[in-house]
Amino acid sequence: MHLKRIELAGFKSFAKRIELDFRPGVTAVVGPNGSGKSNISDAVRWVLGEQSAKSLRGAKMEDVIFAGSEGENHRNVAEVTLVLDNSDAHLRLPYEEVSVTRRVSRSGDSDYFMNKKPCRLKDVLDLFMDTGLSRDAFAIIGQGRVEQVISGKPEDRRAVIEEAAGVLKYRQRKKQAERKLQDTELNLSRVDDILYELA
Ligand code: ATP
Repeated sequence: MHLKRIELAGFKSFAKRIELDFRPGVTAVVGPNGSGKSNISDAVRWVLGEQSAKSLRGAKMEDVIFAGSEGENHRNVAEVTLVLDNSDAHLRLPYEEVSVTRRVSRSGDSDYFMNKKPCRLKDVLDLFMDTGLSRDAFAIIGQGRVEQVISGKPEDRRAVIEEAAGVLKYRQRKKQAERKLQDTELNLSRVDDILYELA
């Protein structure tokens, strides 16, 4: 799986619709300070389901919408699409190419699409879980994150190692199994009550 293309429109400093193509191998994005390099990685994290405006370097989610500049009116909608090559079937979808789109408007509407079909945030999170590209994975290391890890508390560092080792999915499955077990125990005690009443 690799990221083939990003399409941005009205997202942060990208007022007009643009497409960035990525070929396999290393791609470096270079440019002067403030030219929008980090906005590209923000766009990737945003599509992956990032819900914190702060970690996208804004105060509120609306701040991802192009706010206007000299000679360019502000936009009312921001839309970003990631196009991924899935010929190795790394994503559990039967398509060679998978696109994921997120759109937000100033009125507060927020939509997700998978291969252009509307879907829920949960579908996007589920799609990327276990792939190394989930919202909290380490495919994207932001500025200052390395220092945060090195000087962080041992528990925080452990979480980083667990995520990298893929332990997270088992932790979540364990939680789900425990929840099911609790529900089943509750059901069993209800059955016991009924049996007692019938006896
Ligand atoms: P550096 O090299 O300093 O880290 P950079 O190339 O990574 O810079 P970014 O941080 O990606 O640059 O982009 C910052 C620019 O994006 C600023 O000029 C800022 O005004 C612009 N920007 C951010 N949000 C918006 C928005 N909603 N509307 C318009 N412009 C925005």
